Amino acid sequence: MARSKYISTHGIILDKRLHRDERAISSVVLTSDLGKIDVLIRGARKDTHKWGASFEPLEGGEMILYPVGDRYVLTAFQVDTLPPVFVRKNPMLRMAIATLVDSSVMKDNESYAEWDTLVSFLHSKMAGKTAIAKFLLEYIGVMGYRVFMSGATCGICGKKYDGGVWYYTPYEGYLVCEECNVLHGVKLGTYTIAEDVLREIVKLKRVSWHYGDDFISEDAYRLILDRTFATIPVSEAVRHVFYSFGRKGG
Ligand SMILES: [Zn+2]
Repeated sequence: MARSKYISTHGIILDKRLHRDERAISSVVLTSDLGKIDVLIRGARKDTHKWGASFEPLEGGEMILYPVGDRYVLTAFQVDTLPPVFVRKNPMLRMAIATLVDSSVMKDNESYAEWDTLVSFLHSKMAGKTAIAKFLLEYIGVMGYRVFMSGATCGICGKKYDGGVWYYTPYEGYLVCEECNVLHGVKLGTYTIAEDVLREIVKLKRVSWHYGDDFISEDAYRLILDRTFATIPVSEAVRHVFYSFGRKGG
C-alpha cells in the first residue's frame, strides 16, 4: 500500500499574493513543525466560503497539505485562531505583525520558539500597546535579542539598579549605569531611561499573557520598538505602523 503524502500541521498565514492561476493565491505560512513554508491555495479567490477561511494575515488553524516540489498545496483548513480583537480592528497593524514575523523567520529553518511566541500572543488576553510590547519583547527574546539582557543590572559592570539616571543601549539590549556610561556611553549609542520606564519593562517581562491591564507607557513602548527594529530589518512603512499605534495611545 502506498503511503499517503498528506501532511497535517498547524499553520498561521503571514502573507498572501496573487498567483498566475487567477483563482489561486500563493501564501506564506508559519507552521508548528515545518517552519515557514509556501502554500498554494486553489480556488481561494473565487469561493472563500468553500474554505470557511479568509486567508487574512494571522489567521491560523489545522491544515492538511500535499507537498508538490518545494511548496505545498492546501487541501483542508480548519480555522481555530484569529488575532485579538484590537488587532482585528486595525488591519495595518495586523499586516505589520505578520510582516515582522515573515521578515525574521527564514524558510526551512527551525522556528518552534517563534511559533510558540506568536501563538501565545494570538491567544492572549492582553490589549493595546502592552500586548504589542509583550509580543515584541518575547519575540526578539527567543531570537536571542534580549531587552535588559541581565535584568535590572548594568550590562557592563553588573551593578544592580539603584535609582537615579541610567542609560539603555538598543543595539546591545542592556542597561548601563551612570559610571559606565561616562566611560562607554557614546560608543554604545545610549540614551537615558527613566526609572518608571525601567520598572514597566521589568514588570512586562514577568506578567503572563493573560494579564489584562494595559500599563505600558509611550516611552517604554518606544524603547521596545527601538530594540526590535535594531534587530529585525523591516520597511519604513511597517515601522511606522508600530510607532503610530503607540502614539494613538492604544
Ligand atoms: Zn556599570
